[in-house]
Amino acid sequence: MKEEDCIFCKIANGEIPSTTIYEDDTFRVILDLGPANPGHALILPKEHFRDITEIDADTAAKVLPLAAKIGTALKEGLGCDGFNVVQNNGPAAGQTVFHFHVHIIPRYDADPKMVTWTPGTYEDGEMEKVAEKIRAAL
Ligand code: AMP
Ligand code: ZN
Repeated sequence: MKEEDCIFCKIANGEIPSTTIYEDDTFRVILDLGPANPGHALILPKEHFRDITEIDADTAAKVLPLAAKIGTALKEGLGCDGFNVVQNNGPAAGQTVFHFHVHIIPRYDADPKMVTWTPGTYEDGEMEKVAEKIRAAL
């Protein structure tokens, strides 16, 4: 299903032009207009899903193998040393386009680390309490 005003629905289905590097029945893979590095790619399903919690089993089964295929092509084609696979869910996590997508970002040894955080700590007993809240929601 496409959504009326979704820009990634329009791009994925070819209604808005994009720089496409791969296409099959399920996905279009395009270059991001604001790349972290040249070659930064976005995997877009042709069907509309808001985020990872909505994707169907077929999309879910296919998307990681495709991420590996695109990442391998970035390494072979561009000579990058590695790649990040990034996928944001919700504004708090940095999602700005609400059509599920996966970023594949070429990375070079000399690059500053990009997907990173400052490791925190737990108070005594806090880790188990947090784990219990998550287990109870599963
Ligand atoms: P996110 O923050 O995970 O929702 O990522 C959205 C990404 O889409 C950003 O990296 C944007 O640069 C990229 N983007 C937005 N509009 C377009 C467009 N028309 N063509 C290509 N990339 C786009
Ligand atoms: Zn959409």
